[in-house]
Amino acid sequence: MVRENEIRQGEIAVEAPAATDAGLVFIGTIRTPWTSRLVTPRQGRADGPVCHIEVFPLWQQALAGIEQFERLEVLYWLHLSRRDLVRQSPANDGSARGTFALRSPVRPNPIGTSIVTLVDVEGSTVLVRGIDCLDGTPLLDLKPDRTLFTPIAPPQAGDFEVG
Ligand code: SAM
Repeated sequence: MVRENEIRQGEIAVEAPAATDAGLVFIGTIRTPWTSRLVTPRQGRADGPVCHIEVFPLWQQALAGIEQFERLEVLYWLHLSRRDLVRQSPANDGSARGTFALRSPVRPNPIGTSIVTLVDVEGSTVLVRGIDCLDGTPLLDLKPDRTLFTPIAPPQAGDFEVG
């Protein structure tokens, strides 16, 4: 994994297409204690510090009901990542692995995901433990942890297809 933007022995970068960011809209900002990638957790932990997910006021109504879920899935945009490596050397030891076989922040579309523990909801701010991003990281989405969520809409044909 690239810690900042350097290229290591064994790593390969490609000329990536210009980013258009797929028309995503950032829906908030994640506030964490970490201001450097060099100290940010590699993966969040359930007993990590409480972090504040500040949802923009436009989307506050979209939080209705979220408090009933013990855990949430958070998607965020790892905005400082380079996006052009196809092979990476997380240990910086000359051995490299394909980007899609890693959870490195360096990817063509630098989407990070974490399962977090919900601590509280205060207006449009969601307090959680278990995040692993820099302070100021843009928020893409919030959803209930899928293992806690039962679809509310009636099942449809594909739900019964196996094999
Ligand atoms: N949990 C997410 C996942 O698995 O999709 C992200 C894991 S990634 C290994 C976490 C690392 O990304 C942090 O340790 C830090 O080095 C880096 N990082 C965090 N926030 C970032 C940001 N906003 N831009 C670029 N890199 C970031």
